[in-house]
Amino acid sequence: MTLELIKDPVPWPNGARCAVAITFDIDTDSVLHLEFPDRAKDLIGTNSWLKYDEIAIPRILDIYRHFDIKQTFYYPAWCMEHYPHLVDMILKDGHEIAAHGYLHENPNQMSRERQEYWMDKQVAVIEKMTGEKPRGWRGPLYNASGDSPELCAAQGMIYDATLMGDDIPHIMRTKAGDMIGLPSHWAMDDWPHFTHNMDFNYMMPIKSPDEAFNVFRSEFEAMYKYRGLLVTVWHPFVTGRLARADRMVEWIEEMKNKGDVWFARMDDIARHCQACIADGSWTPRVQEFPYYTKRIDEYEEETPLAAE
Ligand SMILES: [Zn+2]
Repeated sequence: MTLELIKDPVPWPNGARCAVAITFDIDTDSVLHLEFPDRAKDLIGTNSWLKYDEIAIPRILDIYRHFDIKQTFYYPAWCMEHYPHLVDMILKDGHEIAAHGYLHENPNQMSRERQEYWMDKQVAVIEKMTGEKPRGWRGPLYNASGDSPELCAAQGMIYDATLMGDDIPHIMRTKAGDMIGLPSHWAMDDWPHFTHNMDFNYMMPIKSPDEAFNVFRSEFEAMYKYRGLLVTVWHPFVTGRLARADRMVEWIEEMKNKGDVWFARMDDIARHCQACIADGSWTPRVQEFPYYTKRIDEYEEETPLAAE
C-alpha cells in the first residue's frame, strides 16, 4: 500500500494527478527604482540585466503557445504602465495577470494605511489595463504583512500566491472573507538557484540549468506522486535566459508527456477549489489570518539580551 504523504488532496479535473502552474513575476526594473531611487538612472548594467524581460517574455509566451497552456503572470503595476506592449502580448494569449504590488514595495515594512494606498493603486491599474480586477496577489519578495490577506480579500480577490505553509490549496480565513491559499516555496523560486548581482548584493554561485531543474523535477515528481500543487516563482529575466528557457521547454515536455497533469492559470485553480468545496468533493484545511496580532504576552517583561 502506498503511503499517502498528502492526506486530503484536491480532486483535480479529469482525474489529473497534480496541478502545475508555471508562474512568472515580471518585476523588470521596479526593484531597481525601489532599492536605489536616486542612483537607478546610472545603474544601467543592472538595469540591462532586469530589462532582459523584454526579450524573455515574448520567448515564454512562445513556449506556452507551443504547449497550448495558459498561465499566470504576477505584475507590479508600475511595470505594466511602463511596458504596456508586454501586457498586451500576455493578454492577447489568454494568460492571467495578477497583482504583485505597485513598485514591488514591501507591505510588511509600512503602515496599514500605506498598504491600503498601494493596494488600491495596483488594483486600479490592473483593472484599467486588463478590463478586470485581479483575482489574486503575490506579495513582493514574499513580504506580505499580517494585514495583507485581509486587504486582498477586501478587494474581492479569491486567492493568495504568497505563502508557503502547505503543499496543497487551503482556505485563508480573514475578516474580509475567505480566500484560497495557493502555496509555493523557495525551492520552486529561481532566485536562489540563479541570481547573482553586485548592486543588489546577491552573490550566489550560479547553478547550471541542469542542477536547478533537478530541484524543480524532484518537486514535481513528489507532487505528481501525492497529488499536490506545483507553483513556480520564476522571473523572465532569470529563467527566461536562453540556456534556462531551453531546459524549461524540455521540462514542460516531460510533464506534458505524462498525460495526466493539469496545467492551469492560478485563478482557474482557485475557482476549481471553490467548486470542489461547494459540491462537497473536497474539504480544505482552514487557516485563520492574521497568525498573530501582538507580541507574546509572557515575553512582554523580558529585556533583550543585547540591552543587558
Ligand atoms: Zn517580484
